[in-house]
Amino acid sequence: MTPLLELNAVSKQFGQNQVLDGVSLAVNPGEVIVILGPSGCGKSTLLRTLNGLEPIQGGEIRFYGQLLDAATDWQRLRQRIGMVFQSYHLFPNLTVLENVLLGPLQVQRRERQEALLQAEQLLTRIGLWEKRHAYPRELSGGQQQRIAIVRALCMNPQVMLFDEVTAALDPEMVQEVLEVIRDLAGSGMTLLIVTHELAFAQAVADRIVFMEEGHILEQASPHQFFDNPRSQRARQFLAKFS
Ligand code: ADP
Ligand code: MG
Repeated sequence: MTPLLELNAVSKQFGQNQVLDGVSLAVNPGEVIVILGPSGCGKSTLLRTLNGLEPIQGGEIRFYGQLLDAATDWQRLRQRIGMVFQSYHLFPNLTVLENVLLGPLQVQRRERQEALLQAEQLLTRIGLWEKRHAYPRELSGGQQQRIAIVRALCMNPQVMLFDEVTAALDPEMVQEVLEVIRDLAGSGMTLLIVTHELAFAQAVADRIVFMEEGHILEQASPHQFFDNPRSQRARQFLAKFS
């Protein structure tokens, strides 16, 4: 099986700072991978390289076997690789529906009726169809983040990258956002998730990738990782949360 995404010995520096140091990872279609690791170990940078937001200095990245580099049409590729961040970046002057339809209509040039149908289906699925004409300021943080996820999904990506999407939310809103991601995982979508929500990680992941100082220290099933992590570093990391 050709991996959906493949990193081979990827390295990345910011000045003298080696942020990714020979990272190799294959993401298979339908797989849910959760990346864990201490703050500053390179998780966000890793996700950003997959979206063309960070040029790399060594190694290679492939999407279904196709090499991604400076010659890649990244705008086109970003439609295939959806990404949601900690801060939701909805356009404040646009309604929920207008936010969701922006990409499908402006970037993908799809027919309005067809895109609208999909947008309304997605909003129904996450329970926010009634809010379709609301403005972001009228929504809670959790609701805005769910809309941000729908906005990415409405481009029909083949994989979704989630970078600490609940980190900026009030605690009572975390679960409703995780629930949307859990639903996506259950539907067979390929997901690459960075989170500090360990119970969620354990429940949703097919595989845990544990990073430390720019490289992958451990890859394991959730069962193996949480019950019996191999490295001392992983044990220390988990101990902080228990
Ligand atoms: P994580 O997401 O795991 O917390 P990051 O990928 O954000 O880690 O950061 C990894 C390292 O790269 C950190 O040392 C951080 O300071 C550095 N870094 C991240 N982005 C930049 C940038 N744009 N310029 C310089 N250094 C950066
Ligand atoms: Mg980060």
